[in-house]
Amino acid sequence: MGYKGRSARRTTGRLIGALALVAALAGILLLLAQTLFHEPEPAQPVSGQNGGDVLTQPGGDEPQQPQQPEEPEEPEEPEEPEERPWNLRLVNFENPLPQDYAIETKSLLNGLEVDARIYEKLTAMLSDGRSEGLQFVVCSAWRSVEKQTELFEKQKNKWLKQGYDEQQANERAAQVVARPGTSEHNLGLACDIVALDYQNLDDGYAETPEAKWLYENCAKYGFILRYPPDKEDITGVIYEPWHFRYVGEQAAQEIMQRGICLEEYLES
Ligand SMILES: [Zn+2]
Repeated sequence: MGYKGRSARRTTGRLIGALALVAALAGILLLLAQTLFHEPEPAQPVSGQNGGDVLTQPGGDEPQQPQQPEEPEEPEEPEEPEERPWNLRLVNFENPLPQDYAIETKSLLNGLEVDARIYEKLTAMLSDGRSEGLQFVVCSAWRSVEKQTELFEKQKNKWLKQGYDEQQANERAAQVVARPGTSEHNLGLACDIVALDYQNLDDGYAETPEAKWLYENCAKYGFILRYPPDKEDITGVIYEPWHFRYVGEQAAQEIMQRGICLEEYLES
């Protein structure tokens, strides 16, 4: 009996113990559930912030990384050359002006015309040089694309008459006259400037005080020596110590200081 009674008491004790354990476990679970349930709430605004930063902060959380490759906006940049300011417009054998390219021109004292926007700078440069005893002659300035076409055709016809075919005549003419639209003179921002006592368009002109002064001072007025002797393979034009092109003061200073040509400046 005693044994049985002890055993029953033991069983009851075990039951109470198990119930207490269950209750305790339930309490812990409740606490855990509360903790788990409440945590996500403050976490939400944080993940929201991270989401907003994905585009600007590359080092985000792992799930956000797959979004990174979706940045195809950069390739749009090559379109920029189209938006170059007027003073940096590139004209060469690869970049011709359209046949109907039109500008507002202003006449120099000798009747030649330039783009009205460079008139003040050009005349200031010439007048400052003259005040130092130099005698400049502007022998070529703006020439319309139409006029260029006329000059080119005239040259081409000379070769056609001599029996050359169309293509040969075109090539021969292009050696003497720039193809229509490809001359910087069509742009109105370039001038050929020589000396009163040296008007030959050849390398010898570079030795005159006029050419030397222009080379040293042109950048102050926004002009550059457009066809330097060592850049012929880039510009496609031989050394022309008389041809000055307006690009604006900032670009001119950099181009002349670095000894580069306009093509190189625009690429860098
Ligand atoms: Zn020229």
